[in-house]
Amino acid sequence: MDSPAKSPATAPRRRGWKWILAVVLGAFLLLFLIAVAVLVPIAMKANVAMQSTFCQSKLHQLALGARIHAVNHDSKFPNDWTELTGEFANPMLLVCTDDKAHPVAADWASVGASNITYAYLARGADDGQTNRVVAFCPVHGHLVVVGGRVYPGAMKRAPDAITERDGAQWFDPSKLPASNRTARQNR
Ligand SMILES: [Zn+2]
Repeated sequence: MDSPAKSPATAPRRRGWKWILAVVLGAFLLLFLIAVAVLVPIAMKANVAMQSTFCQSKLHQLALGARIHAVNHDSKFPNDWTELTGEFANPMLLVCTDDKAHPVAADWASVGASNITYAYLARGADDGQTNRVVAFCPVHGHLVVVGGRVYPGAMKRAPDAITERDGAQWFDPSKLPASNRTARQNR
């Protein structure tokens, strides 16, 4: 069936509205795409910074746990992380949140090398060895010393600040680049 004929006056008016609608929708789409292009990188950057901060916090807590362990064991640090069962309810702290290669173990009894991100370097350390390295994150390069300070990115930015002596790793904060001297304080 033929559709009713449009009056010559209404057809151009409808075409005009369609154009306006198309322009408005196009403008909204453009604004949306610009917002996505600007906000997504900002959100991603914020997430990266947040994960890095979580990692520093984990290292700080682990070193604190190891020091508490030392208080109860003649000032000696644990031989490895698995001796911290008395200090932490579960082994969640052993895995950096940015480390996808090492899943968190269900409990302390099932912790193996595959459930640990943080390399432990304080076997037999004394709690008086303030600048001896306790552990570092291979993902972020953060490092924590016996004194409890975390040096963000130190393993990557200042590898020369780490020296080996008597079979142990020591960190010299004076060798850090000036911009990298801030460290989380032991609380
Ligand atoms: Zn990390």
